[in-house]
Amino acid sequence: MTGGVGVAVRAWAGLDAGAQSDSVEQPKLTGGALRGRAMGETPAGGLDWAALWDRIPGEDAALLAELTENKLLATLRDRYRDHRIYTYVGDILIAVNPFRDLPLYSPEISDIFSSRPLSSLPPHIFAVADRAYNSLQGNPGKLSRNQCVVISGDSGAGKTESTKLLLKHLVRRSRGNLQLGQQILQVNPLLEAFGNAQTVMNPNSSRFGKYIQLRFRDGAVRGAKINEYLLEKSRVSHQDPGEKNFHIFYYMLGGIPDEEKQVYGLLQPSLYRYIGSKWEEATPSHWVESYQRVCNAMRMVGFQEQEELDLKVILSGVLSLGNVVFEPQESGGVGVCPTAMGWLKAAAGQFGVQEEELLSCLTCTLSLTRGESIRRLHSQQQAEDSRDSIARGVYSRLFGWIVCKINELLAGDMDMGKELQEIGILDIFGFENFSVNRFEQLCINLANEQLQNFFNHHIFLMEEQHYKEEGMEREAVPFSNNQATLELFLARPWGILSLLDEQSSFPQATDVSFVEKLNSTYRESPLYERGRGFEPGFAIHHYAGKIKYSAAGFLEKNRDALPTNINRLFISSETSLISILFTASISRTGTLTPQQRAKVKVSQEKGSSRKISVGAQFRHSLAVLMEKMYLAEPHFIRCIKPNSQNEPGLLETQTVLNQLRYNGLMETLRIRRDGFSWRPSVQEFVARFGILLLTPGAEVSRESCKRIAETAQLIGWHCGKSRLFFKYWHQDQLQRRLVELRDAAIVI
Ligand code: ADP
Ligand code: MG
Repeated sequence: MTGGVGVAVRAWAGLDAGAQSDSVEQPKLTGGALRGRAMGETPAGGLDWAALWDRIPGEDAALLAELTENKLLATLRDRYRDHRIYTYVGDILIAVNPFRDLPLYSPEISDIFSSRPLSSLPPHIFAVADRAYNSLQGNPGKLSRNQCVVISGDSGAGKTESTKLLLKHLVRRSRGNLQLGQQILQVNPLLEAFGNAQTVMNPNSSRFGKYIQLRFRDGAVRGAKINEYLLEKSRVSHQDPGEKNFHIFYYMLGGIPDEEKQVYGLLQPSLYRYIGSKWEEATPSHWVESYQRVCNAMRMVGFQEQEELDLKVILSGVLSLGNVVFEPQESGGVGVCPTAMGWLKAAAGQFGVQEEELLSCLTCTLSLTRGESIRRLHSQQQAEDSRDSIARGVYSRLFGWIVCKINELLAGDMDMGKELQEIGILDIFGFENFSVNRFEQLCINLANEQLQNFFNHHIFLMEEQHYKEEGMEREAVPFSNNQATLELFLARPWGILSLLDEQSSFPQATDVSFVEKLNSTYRESPLYERGRGFEPGFAIHHYAGKIKYSAAGFLEKNRDALPTNINRLFISSETSLISILFTASISRTGTLTPQQRAKVKVSQEKGSSRKISVGAQFRHSLAVLMEKMYLAEPHFIRCIKPNSQNEPGLLETQTVLNQLRYNGLMETLRIRRDGFSWRPSVQEFVARFGILLLTPGAEVSRESCKRIAETAQLIGWHCGKSRLFFKYWHQDQLQRRLVELRDAAIVI
């Protein structure tokens, strides 16, 4: 009998790498193949890559003996030093940006995560992808559900890289249509060229949010769809110091050979105001390569040659338009400066419209009052605003159109009657708090409130539900619920977005009158503060702290009005793509309800220029997204930026601590600490610790579990209907008992 135990214990010591606790001795993953191939493949920097695959204490921070903020921080820091960038907190994956290429993502490693039990492998982003994929297939007796992966974190924390890695693993895992899989991976350069830019936080920062849905049938990927959110179009006409315009402009200016530039009407880069001093004289060679990559991607995505040509001409038109400057005229109003007439002509040609008509859209407003056409001359400021809003409008429609084209291409074979299952991946900006926070930050922070609410719902409410389902009595765990903040933004008719829409519809209203309305409506609200010293403005108490918003420009940005008549002018453009962009401008988002669509149609027919506000559109797309996500089974990845200089190997304590606090991880840890952090199923538990009963082949039953717990003298644990609920230290006790047994067996 003792011999039997000895064999079994030795087997465990060599093979079972599933143990993960804060105990002294740990089994190692015997991953010869893994070390030999995948790790040896990229020898770099004298690092012991093989060691990255050993399971070590702290991989699930929720199981640490001491669950404090400092302990979590120290764990992350120690692991980061050893290039172990991934750590679990329960089911949540924390990913600390390495700012260097680690050999962790090869196809071989992807295959390892597809073929071995995840519990035997170290924390990894592929494990999250694989868990989502497996859950999509459903377990015996459990219906499969759509899955969603929510990736959050500061700008530059690694969200977009994580998204790409998830896609990479899922595409490889799903053995679907190979070509489609490749196309899905290839759309990224296209999206990034048009939607990313250099910022002070991240040289390749996504300036839009996205939700990518991968669609599966019978385990194989059959299609994909991308939803884009809140493209930061203000960047087209203005960039803060240290920042650049969208990548595509630089790729084109650097990558198109000089002789070809005249086809598009492109001149010297430094001449363009929208690029201006941001141009580096020495064209980085990667811009040339990136340009080629974008062109290839466009072909692969299925753009027609004419469309590609139009697209480049239109982008050149945006740059020309930016150079149209104005001066007051003696006869009143403004005109184009004589030196800029050439730019106006160029822009009109590139947009395929008459120069005089474009000029008229820029310099005056035409309105129809009682059947009479009234012409109001613009001030210089109004003319400049019109110019910039046209440039931004053209660019954002172009981006939307590209996403639509990508979606058409990736739609795949959706029509086979059988319902498709989905894994959605959300890569959206993290919480923002700048020195000046504008309307864009308000929308981004609202999205983050909504995501935090979703996270709370899942982690805390589900936790309670879980106990209930397992027949356990437990007090509700207190957590900071941000429902009231969400209502402050979204409630009708008194929420901030509703009041903004109300004010936006009054021609006389101003940013100041909007703030006055907020001040009087939320006089009593503890979540709202009047702006003092930053008027017109206000402050909101978000879950992540107080944010001051400057209300300047709120109404204009929410209305997002283009100069009157520009729609009509562009629809009649000779450049067919311009005409398409402006004809389809409303329906292309695909995010409006039929009622909203009908409303838009009526108002268009009436000749009214009223359109759905930016706030209302965003509210709607957020609601559609949340509806999808609440129906799905969520997985969370929290990306952490270890330092603000984007340097490898440097972890700044305060920078990381702030992020841990902001993104709810400390709350999660607290809940775990107060509750039962380790919850193996009866099967899992018996398989792993059944050996403590000293009888081979212990029966899989709750009775066996109780006996096992007795042998290890566990106190304060619970036996649910199908799971066992342990405190973090219980696992440690069991582990120690196993080690004692093994030592005894070796002595024998
Ligand atoms: P975010 O989308 O959160 O703003 P990104 O995903 O663009 O951040 O990441 C910023 C940069 O950090 C990337 O360009 C890349 O250089 C680096 N990075 C992020 N994740 C990884 C990773 N897993 N491995 C190597 N480098 C990474
Ligand atoms: Mg990003």
